[in-house]
Amino acid sequence: MSTFSPELEAFRARAIAFMEPHLAEFGQAARNGLSLDEDIALARRWQATKQAAGFAGITFPTEYGGAGLGQLEQVIFVEEESARGFPSPYFVISLSMPIPMMLRYATPEQKARFVPAALRGEQIWSQLFSEPSTGSDLAAVRTRATRDGDDWILSGQKVWTTFAQYSDYGVIVARSDPDAPKHRGLTYFFVDLKAPGVTVRPIKQLHGAEEFNEVFFDDVRIPDAWRLGEIGAGFRLAVETLMIERYTAASDETGFGPPLEALIAIARDTAINGRPATEDGRVRAVIARNWAVQQSLSSIHEKSVMELAAGREPGPEGSIHKLVGSRGRREVAVCALDLLGPGGLRFDAASHPRPKTDFAMSWMDQPTLRIAGGTDEMLLNTVAERILGLPQDYRPDKVAKA
Ligand SMILES: Cc1cc2nc3c(=O)[nH]c(=O)nc-3n(C[C@H](O)[C@H](O)[C@H](O)COP(=O)(O)OP(=O)(O)OC[C@H]3O[C@@H](n4cnc5c(N)ncnc54)[C@H](O)[C@@H]3O)c2cc1C
Repeated sequence: MSTFSPELEAFRARAIAFMEPHLAEFGQAARNGLSLDEDIALARRWQATKQAAGFAGITFPTEYGGAGLGQLEQVIFVEEESARGFPSPYFVISLSMPIPMMLRYATPEQKARFVPAALRGEQIWSQLFSEPSTGSDLAAVRTRATRDGDDWILSGQKVWTTFAQYSDYGVIVARSDPDAPKHRGLTYFFVDLKAPGVTVRPIKQLHGAEEFNEVFFDDVRIPDAWRLGEIGAGFRLAVETLMIERYTAASDETGFGPPLEALIAIARDTAINGRPATEDGRVRAVIARNWAVQQSLSSIHEKSVMELAAGREPGPEGSIHKLVGSRGRREVAVCALDLLGPGGLRFDAASHPRPKTDFAMSWMDQPTLRIAGGTDEMLLNTVAERILGLPQDYRPDKVAKA
């Protein structure tokens, strides 16, 4: 039985009817072998195509170019879009975090200027929170925002900023009051990443791609009008942004890796001691365990969808989803690479994106999922404290303040 009502299934049918004629131009097969630059150019055109048809920004208000629908329609649209491999990941950060924060906190003029352009794919936005000495402990941000008349002057360094080299703007948390307790001395702004004084340096990853960056701010001037929320409210707004991120990251039971069927196909084609690997106990155990785990993760996702359908926010179980999904992805990739042997790591670093069934890419990239959007250890703390009701972890900074 479908989790969704007949009306929502009718929306799914409309979304599929819109997507199918565009599959040849924008779907996975059209993207295979493209460079990152070519794929991003294709992604911008796909975003503009969706916007023209009323399918960009499903939950965004119609007055800013969105579809004005609910989160369930969004879940359905993303399910169908990802199943066909359309190039939407480049806009996931923009449209899931910075732009929703603009919608909550920017002025009507700012929303009218930035939101429709972002929905049309004309702008990419970054999230500039992490620093060399600040990741999980967001309140330790050191980048300074110093007031100067009607402006602020930003100086410092951010790191791991996804797609900053392709971004026009970003949201940033900076220390505006070094004398206040650390959680209260931060302020949240949006910033022009093409402004004088901004330097973006890509970081090369193990598999050759450069998806994130170091970003340096040398006395970058921004108007006070580009502040979102109150002075000193930066930590609260950053946490609000991350809560949106955690739910977004939680919705693929393979941990965004290849489907289990791809491992089964390799096992069928590989012999161990003259017998198909599907008859080997160790391989069967990996397949069976991950099948069971993925069924459970699908149930968690379904529960989240039902919470949304009932008008409630999904609970902390998204942490279990990400934690367990990324561990399963690693185990499945290791098993596939063992079966494939040395040839399994054959790799064309210039080709982007990699096909979903590429186990070499899945294995090389899987550690990132165990860090981005909350590290495994932080998620374990969430599970311990918010799901199991265990006592709060030792927080030296909070104890010191008390
Ligand atoms: C693919 C990817 C994309 C990213 N994109 C962005 C982006 O666009 N913008 C952005 O701002 N950042 C981004 N990041 C950075 C990411 O948010 C941080 O890497 C993450 O928050 C962890 O911070 P850190 O690297 O400083 O590690 P740290 O916080 O220093 O953690 C180091 C280790 O200590 C553990 N640890 C830390 N605190 C605790 C605790 N209280 N209890 C138990 N263990 C603890 C961690 O689990 C980890 O194992 C990205 C990261 C990745 C991998």
